[in-house]
Amino acid sequence: MGPAGYTPSSMTSPMAVSPHVPPATECGRTDTSTSAGLQKPLIDVRNLVKHFPVTAGMFFSRRTGVVRAVDGVSFAIPKGATVGLVGESGCGKSTVARLLLRLIEPTSGEVWFGETELTKAPPEQMRRLRRDMQIVFQDPHSSLNPRRRVGEIIGRPLMIHGLANKRQATERVHELLSMVGLSPAMASRFPHEFSGGQRQRIGIARALALNPSFVVLDEPTSSLDVSVQAQILNLLNDLKAKLGLTYLFVSHNLSVVEYFCDLTLVMYLGKIVEAGPSDVLHAEPLHPYTKALMSAVLVPEVGQQRERIILTGEIPSPMNPPQGCRFHTRCPYAMDVCKAVEPALSEQAAGHQVACHLYQSR
Ligand code: SF4
Repeated sequence: MGPAGYTPSSMTSPMAVSPHVPPATECGRTDTSTSAGLQKPLIDVRNLVKHFPVTAGMFFSRRTGVVRAVDGVSFAIPKGATVGLVGESGCGKSTVARLLLRLIEPTSGEVWFGETELTKAPPEQMRRLRRDMQIVFQDPHSSLNPRRRVGEIIGRPLMIHGLANKRQATERVHELLSMVGLSPAMASRFPHEFSGGQRQRIGIARALALNPSFVVLDEPTSSLDVSVQAQILNLLNDLKAKLGLTYLFVSHNLSVVEYFCDLTLVMYLGKIVEAGPSDVLHAEPLHPYTKALMSAVLVPEVGQQRERIILTGEIPSPMNPPQGCRFHTRCPYAMDVCKAVEPALSEQAAGHQVACHLYQSR
């Protein structure tokens, strides 16, 4: 069930994206783009790893372990598509989003943006590339500087990159405010004078100031009321169609992802465990973890509620993930092989991949 009043992307976008996830390669790559008539990937992530060191000791800190936040993630985002990345809090999805924009440095792996490998791009090239890759943050309250007026907040990226003089920046700010459904006169106000939904519109206007082609949406509606969520999602869809944007949509809300995204990637404890076209994956989830997530989603029809799957068992620490399948400590179908051998992603239907031993012999 999508948010009230929300219009699915297929109804608003002029681009007919045919989601397709071809088979994984030998390194377990989730290729979400290539062979079904989709455009070349705009973003191509290859075996991306991010381990955060854990240290102890006040004066002579020593390394006591690592948090394996992202542990070998591979996927592609076709140009013009919206790809959803879902999972519980702490599964690594927001870390992936920040790695893609190189807001944090990866431990290993590659992130290709078009023809450029971002993790090896020198600072000056990275500075130019940042114009093309932007982010909308989860909390519009803390992501906007309360001491700056809205016009300054939105126009600041233009000034930093030396792309406009003061008059041009003012004109662009007015244009962006209109684009996101706010009055240009609001440029002189401070963020605290706006509602949560209006503040998120300001965050979106700031992200679009430099005309990016790729935008990460990091849970952009999770702090908003349901009715406002629908307005923001419709706005994002309209902007995508109008400006030809490509989105990575990070969320823990599967129902929103189903309606908003062309493709869905499900993450668990630093790994992608299922991937596929959103309509297929949501109609027939395969991985036991995805099924458990889906069982918590409300169905709009009376009497059509799914049977709720309550996961039991220990939630593993990303500092010490279990051997074999990382989900085996909570999985109701766990077998001996699951505790010893890590399942690779394998294709079960056109574009629908799952990493689970229940499907390995198919
Ligand atoms: Fe469950 Fe085994 Fe599949 Fe993991 S591989 S999800 S433990 S059945």
